[in-house]
Amino acid sequence: MWLRVLGSAAGGGFPQWNCGCPNCRAVRTGARPALPRTQSSIAVSADRQRWFLFNASPDIRTQVESFPALRPGAGRATPLQAVLLTDAELDHTLGLLLLREAKSVELHATAAVRETLCRATAILCTLEAYCAVTWREVVPGADTPLGGGLSYRAFDVPTSKRNRFGPGREHGRVVGYRLTDETTGRTAVYLPGVQELTPAVLAELADGDCLLVDGTCWHDDEMIRLGLAGKTSRDMGHLPISGPDGSLRRLAALPAERKIYVHINNTNPVLLDDSPERRTVEQHGVEVANDGLEVRLTS
Ligand SMILES: [Zn+2]
Ligand SMILES: [Zn+2]
Repeated sequence: MWLRVLGSAAGGGFPQWNCGCPNCRAVRTGARPALPRTQSSIAVSADRQRWFLFNASPDIRTQVESFPALRPGAGRATPLQAVLLTDAELDHTLGLLLLREAKSVELHATAAVRETLCRATAILCTLEAYCAVTWREVVPGADTPLGGGLSYRAFDVPTSKRNRFGPGREHGRVVGYRLTDETTGRTAVYLPGVQELTPAVLAELADGDCLLVDGTCWHDDEMIRLGLAGKTSRDMGHLPISGPDGSLRRLAALPAERKIYVHINNTNPVLLDDSPERRTVEQHGVEVANDGLEVRLTS
């Protein structure tokens, strides 16, 4: 199984268009070593022929062009087989609209996510006006063959993040994916949004070979400290990396071969290659993803 990080930044990307935080300034001017990053998405394949997209970011066009394996063959045949969504956030779903030139799009999402995409953000009905969309309902806990030698099992990720579109279904608002290569039996977990590493969520991570996990903020009050927002990281549905209850301590204790932070907000000091926070993460055996990072899990 191959996993390719297409975009490693959280919503807004790095730098973010309207942000002058120390990180965004540093990456614009080159004052500190840091790589720009596009918005969160990965592509996964068991055979390097058929690829599955996890979340469709607004940067999808650049992301496809930046990765030769995703470029079309003759005519308009695309290696992209389907899109799987972890939630209905705009930075994970706006890219669906940019797939409208396709004849058809196979979309895997929970009923809750589909409802938001239909009734609230209207992304799904807009896409359906341009091309055929086949919805495959993601049912947490169910082992589901995906094709191309891969199967997945989604798991519910509880969140108390305010639903800005009003009350809707609670279950299935956010899921993580556990992916299995059916030939080698190797597994990877994609979890770009997690508010708490509950025992149930940790159990999903416990025996994964490669873990791609939410690294949005370093501090819980990172945005407040910088005077950028009034919300904590947890308020936004993301467990911070640092602190006694942060994700780093939990991840460090897990036996996975590769543990990688993805979905990193532009304010997070781990984005600076020479920051003490980056060093701390690496000393705990965890990597910080950049766009183009590829993981190969062999048998
Ligand atoms: Zn996001
Ligand atoms: Zn910024």
